[in-house]
Amino acid sequence: MRGPGGVGLVEKVVSRMGAVIYMDGQLVPEAEAKVSVFDHGLLYGDGVFEGIRAYHGRVFRLTQHLERLYDSALGIHLSIPLSIGEMEQAVLLTLRANEARDAYIRLVVTRGCGDLGLDPQKCGRPTVFIIVGKIQLYDPALYVKGLRLITCRTRRISARALDPSIKSLNYLNNIVAKVEVTNASAHEGIMLNEEGYVAECTGDNIFLVRHGGVVTPPPEAGILKGVTRGAVMEVAKSKGYRVAEELFRIGDLLPADECFLTGTAAEIVPATSVDGRQIADGVAGPVTGDLREGFSALVACEGTPIGTDA
Ligand code: PMP
Repeated sequence: MRGPGGVGLVEKVVSRMGAVIYMDGQLVPEAEAKVSVFDHGLLYGDGVFEGIRAYHGRVFRLTQHLERLYDSALGIHLSIPLSIGEMEQAVLLTLRANEARDAYIRLVVTRGCGDLGLDPQKCGRPTVFIIVGKIQLYDPALYVKGLRLITCRTRRISARALDPSIKSLNYLNNIVAKVEVTNASAHEGIMLNEEGYVAECTGDNIFLVRHGGVVTPPPEAGILKGVTRGAVMEVAKSKGYRVAEELFRIGDLLPADECFLTGTAAEIVPATSVDGRQIADGVAGPVTGDLREGFSALVACEGTPIGTDA
């Protein structure tokens, strides 16, 4: 069979050693999935990626993730060698090859191999790989107790430097902030933008609950427009909560009724303290719980079916 990318595909690779990886049009055992040391994804963090979830045999918001991937690629002038439809098929194929129904999918497109200079024009074909795995960011107990947050000293990079809405392979801004989080024995860190407004966390979007409505920073705050963020805003609206995208500051967290974070890996997780001070009464709140229920119902009923091999 000729598969996505126009390269002959082994429909199914039986592997006794780990996962089956999609690598430039081929399905290969994990041990054989390698990238060159000349790949600019490795040399410069030059590339884009997505983290996607499959629940109960369906891929949640696959089209939205792929649209964001192709937008991110456009943002760094990278032309992905597969159409969106081919990429969708490659994701589904990799899930089937791994016999996965509930999974975390990491889809990566790098600039490809070049020389030791920066110039992306000297790179050949972009490298495309897809990993099907599992992820658990936080201990399940934290979904009840809530996360300890800190305010990071590291500011979220300005959109005038590198737009945070581009999900690029260059995550150093977030990684340096994450080191602060770990050093402070906290669970997540809030990153402010250059103007001192709350942007997002190192790997999640942030929401406040106040006066019975939910508030989250707008895209102009300099954030990644999370797929989970969008889904949670829909769930909140459908449940009758007022939803607003508004700028706010760290000082607005303590008087809020609740605070929670959203992300593909974390889903919806409550946050109950910031910089050592308790948010509201310091426990996961009822609105967060209600939205978590609504989100679980959503992932259980929508998504692109993984399907079966014909
Ligand atoms: N912000 C950042 C910086 C992220 O890396 C992520 C993804 N982990 C998110 C927000 C949440 O985005 P999504 O809901 O699409 O996973």
